[in-house]
Amino acid sequence: MTGFYHKMNIIIFGPQGVGKGTQAKLLAKHYNLKHLSTGDVLRSAIVDKTPMGTKAEAYIEKGEFVPDNVVNEIIENQLFKTETGWILDGYPRNLAQAEYLDLVLDKAGQKIDLVIDLSAPKQILKNRMMARKEIENRLDDVEQIIERRLELFENKTKPVLDFYNKRKMVRTLNGVGSIKEVNKYIICNIDALKLD
Ligand code: AMP
Repeated sequence: MTGFYHKMNIIIFGPQGVGKGTQAKLLAKHYNLKHLSTGDVLRSAIVDKTPMGTKAEAYIEKGEFVPDNVVNEIIENQLFKTETGWILDGYPRNLAQAEYLDLVLDKAGQKIDLVIDLSAPKQILKNRMMARKEIENRLDDVEQIIERRLELFENKTKPVLDFYNKRKMVRTLNGVGSIKEVNKYIICNIDALKLD
């Protein structure tokens, strides 16, 4: 299954709590893609106390976006250091980032093959984030902050979906179900597209 798809480039899109990180990891494994999560990179920079981590922490704690130049730099430094295709998780999160991504992809002679829009009802998202708080103890999985993150998703990130919708690259898929069920469902959909 892997070789055929080795240059497939995917963006996984969806609100916090929909399971996009979990699904991105599984898809990266299945299709042999590099998984790049800007949130994961920022969280490990915080743990390592790097200058980027120090800068990002105050924003993440409040549920706000980290400035574009910080996340854009992660993309520029890490997305293209791979022979395989990639799956981007948590980026782009606003229109300026989507436009920046276009620019760097153009420079690298790469393109986005598919945008997966994973969706679930708001109450399910909130419940999942509260449950994740118990397991992962994330700084930003606190009720008030969760509300703010969902609000930013509605106001700033949803327009990114329209941006890609105009190019007809979006597949909206149902993210309700067990991890395994959702994973199977996404894979079936990707395989049916016969990309590459
Ligand atoms: P995530 O793990 O994707 O939910 O990201 C956790 C937090 O990291 C977000 O709430 C933001 O504070 C920050 N973050 C991650 N990716 C981005 C991005 N593309 N733009 C701005 N902030 C980001």
